[in-house]
Amino acid sequence: MSKTKFVDFKAIKAAITMEQLLQHYGIMDQFKRTGESLNGPCPIHKGSNPTQFRVSTSKNLWNCFSDCEHGGNALDFICKMEKCSIHAAALKAIEWFNLDHEAMAVSDENAEAAEPKTPAPAAKPAARPAAAPKAAPESNAPNMPLKFRLDILERSHPYLTEQRGLTPETIIDFGIGYCAKGMMANRIAIPIHNAKGEVVAYAGRFVGEPPEGTPKYKLPPGFRKSQELFNIDRAIKEPAEKPLLIVEGFFDAMKIHDHGYRKVVALMGSTLSSTQEELIRQHTTSDSHVIVMLDENEAGKAGREDIACRLSKFCFVRVHQFPRPDMEPEHLTDEEVADIVEGHQ
Ligand SMILES: [Zn+2]
Repeated sequence: MSKTKFVDFKAIKAAITMEQLLQHYGIMDQFKRTGESLNGPCPIHKGSNPTQFRVSTSKNLWNCFSDCEHGGNALDFICKMEKCSIHAAALKAIEWFNLDHEAMAVSDENAEAAEPKTPAPAAKPAARPAAAPKAAPESNAPNMPLKFRLDILERSHPYLTEQRGLTPETIIDFGIGYCAKGMMANRIAIPIHNAKGEVVAYAGRFVGEPPEGTPKYKLPPGFRKSQELFNIDRAIKEPAEKPLLIVEGFFDAMKIHDHGYRKVVALMGSTLSSTQEELIRQHTTSDSHVIVMLDENEAGKAGREDIACRLSKFCFVRVHQFPRPDMEPEHLTDEEVADIVEGHQ
């Protein structure tokens, strides 16, 4: 942390959401969602009125309509909760959400636009010069490789071995495991690699079915999943003549790997971003075969039509349809996977 001399408050504010902060403080379940607002008791003055504290999720701002008498942005919220300076709040946000230090630091040439590490006592955060135009990270900017690893992961957690039925080999191949503390606490941490094999993020899967308001997957703030294809680093090392299997989720890809088919990537959703399309284009030729196998539901059906149409402009595309609604690649057997990739199904 000491290396970070200047912190880009604007980049940090853009990278974290109030919702993530409420989750961080473990109070998200006290909040009710109405449209773009979250209402709950004020955690700052510890009020009990269930609608006094309001968050606008679209503006990423909060207000307390009682004792606190004002509101602010996500960093102001940390300041109030931790009773600390904005700089200390920024450093906490970097630590809590594993934000990229480099991306959140202001380089020397922009240093005058940022506040020094130890602001003069009289300096007010609100009085920053208006000419501090360090833009929030571009939405299609690449994700920076992480400078750390989550080392202490429980590989043999029953959620992985029993509920998901993954073999120990697959769990080790993908480097996944149960994370007891930190940002991915009480979740299964799944490293996401870029095409070069660098870890760019960890996704955190809730163990079991999450309660309402808790997301199944947690991704680090500022991480752009549209820039990555899960397992692309390994899929591109497989023989060119094998078809590339495209699935939606992490566990679909891991189960197919488990079944012995390694040339599989996951979109982390049911749509294909332009960067993902470009990644596939870079690693295919006009002779390459691609199989699109999304979940057999409305989102999957809509997604696969669009994806097939776009990919067929530069390679051979086959769309796999499951015989029954709601079937997913995760539920296939070894034989079924083999049949699909060999074109018998
Ligand atoms: Zn309050």
